[in-house]
Amino acid sequence: MRTPDPTSDPRTTSLLALARTVRGFMPDDEGLALFKAADAAARAAGASAVLLEVGSWCGKSATYLGAAAERHGAVLFSVDHHHGSEENQAGWDYFEADLVDPVDGRLNTLPHFQRALAQAHLEETVVGVLGHSVTVARHWGTPIDFLFIDGGHGDEPAWADYHGWTPHVKPRGTLAIHDVFEDPADGGRPPYDLYCHALSSGRFTEVSATGSLRVLERTEAP
Ligand code: SAH
Ligand code: MG
Repeated sequence: MRTPDPTSDPRTTSLLALARTVRGFMPDDEGLALFKAADAAARAAGASAVLLEVGSWCGKSATYLGAAAERHGAVLFSVDHHHGSEENQAGWDYFEADLVDPVDGRLNTLPHFQRALAQAHLEETVVGVLGHSVTVARHWGTPIDFLFIDGGHGDEPAWADYHGWTPHVKPRGTLAIHDVFEDPADGGRPPYDLYCHALSSGRFTEVSATGSLRVLERTEAP
């Protein structure tokens, strides 16, 4: 039986249109591919499906993923300390001065994330988890149907996310990794290294590639 095009539903169409306008780091073709991969995973797992992303920023990918979760009564946990990655800090390439909290001088994306979810009416589907990814992963106990890694892109945080979160992915569950660049001229190495390691470990096989997004499937029991 063919599954209907998941993007044709009016609520989904409007959420995807909204996701395009949310501030963040997700080109639309990759956002759409992310949505479709999450939709397939949530469809397979049903209402008990658990989606989790590392790296909320201002809620752009959470809107794409939340759109998929909502269709199946599933939930998306979105983990971030909301103080930005290394590359978002003053003096780095991806610094955005208006995100600095005047009270303490630190970057704070939490209000933007909250507003994005409120605007999308996704607050009952998307659960923001405020904290350091590794700390949350260490205490996490729920098997994950769909994991999206898009947190810190330095060597240390990226590998910590890989080792902390991938053991929680269910067999046949999905692992999506963002900012995977084969050519070092296009971007940093760690996400690409994670992707290569996932494949060579034999624990994951590739399902699709769209821009810098890679979608893999877990092959064996954790
Ligand atoms: N997915 C977002 C972009 C994420 S940017 C989008 O669609 O636009 C990466 C995010 O990871 C930043 O918000 C940063 O605060 C977060 N981050 C980086 N290292 C982290 C860590 N160790 N724990 C929690 N969040 C982290
Ligand atoms: Mg990214």
